[in-house]
Amino acid sequence: MTYLPKKDRYEKMKYRRCGDSGLLLPEISLGLWHNFGHVDDYENCRLMLQHAFDQGITHFDLANNYGPPPGSAEETFGKILKQDFEGYRDEMIISSKAGYTMWDGPYGDWASKKYIIASCDQSLKRMGLEYVDIFYTHRPDPHTPLEETALALDQLVKQGKALYVGISNYKPAETEAIEKIFQKLRTPFIIHQPRYSMFDRWVEDGLLETLQKLRKGAIVFSPLAQGMLTDRYLDGIPEDSRAARESGHLQQDAVTEEKINKVRQLKTLSEQRGQSIAQMAIAWLLRHEVVTSVLLGASSVKQLQQNLETLNNTAFSQDELDQIEIILK
Ligand code: NDP
Repeated sequence: MTYLPKKDRYEKMKYRRCGDSGLLLPEISLGLWHNFGHVDDYENCRLMLQHAFDQGITHFDLANNYGPPPGSAEETFGKILKQDFEGYRDEMIISSKAGYTMWDGPYGDWASKKYIIASCDQSLKRMGLEYVDIFYTHRPDPHTPLEETALALDQLVKQGKALYVGISNYKPAETEAIEKIFQKLRTPFIIHQPRYSMFDRWVEDGLLETLQKLRKGAIVFSPLAQGMLTDRYLDGIPEDSRAARESGHLQQDAVTEEKINKVRQLKTLSEQRGQSIAQMAIAWLLRHEVVTSVLLGASSVKQLQQNLETLNNTAFSQDELDQIEIILK
């Protein structure tokens, strides 16, 4: 069936400015790490992207290695762009990254100039794009000078292959160090992509503060701790869940009774707020001004829609915040 985007697609979504840049991102963005590979159902991928776009999600996050197999999420995305979104490129913010193992030999990993430049070219080809809106260094590389990585990203911008650049998984000191280089080069470095959820709060130990100070945006990934901060695992590990799937990155032994007990307590609180656990977990991240967007994943339109409805209630009373702290302790 031919897809036509909904006319009212910008009515419900809210957009936040990414640091002090000119770029606005939706409060909820969709990531394609899981559920968009060649192992996944193509029609389901299409429906999720169509639904996302219809609800005002303008930002889609990819990386060279997303799949499985690696590269296949970009291929699926490129195919769907061509099939359903021709003419809508200017309404989309598409990102990709290089940093994890992508091809054999010494040049297909980490953050050398050789890897970043080649990998971006490959990503553009797989997605059928002339440029990405944001290109990231996916993780800090302890063996490549920061200058080299920064210069490689800067070159992508100068070549017109990326509009903005970002960093992911960099610690506060690494962030400050590479920011200084970008500043000298006048590279449009606008965003950091760290992991952040109720179950993983490392960014509260300096990174959010650093980004606020540097006036950069934060787009936070795995906000639902890969599905644990939902009702998915309350009664064991369902067969179709990420923890059960061979290609899933969530290890079954990470779904501990201790965690699930906390989720049960969070559920009671979320119900008092008239929300699901997932909705409360997403809203809780949006309470920070420096968080530009919550970057979530979904395996169905139903999940995605439930998550989008978070935006109906993102306010917390101090008492609710205190109760969450007690549960998470
Ligand atoms: P989430 O924490 O949002 O986990 C998504 C998973 O949670 C879904 O696949 C689904 O699992 C489950 N889920 C989502 N919504 C619901 C719901 N309403 N009810 C029940 N279960 C639900 O995020 P991801 O870990 O997927 O990461 C999101 C994105 O972040 C990635 O796609 C990627 O773009 C980015 N990322 C970046 C990294 C980096 O290093 N920069 C690393 C990892 C991710 P199920 O499949 O079981 O249904």
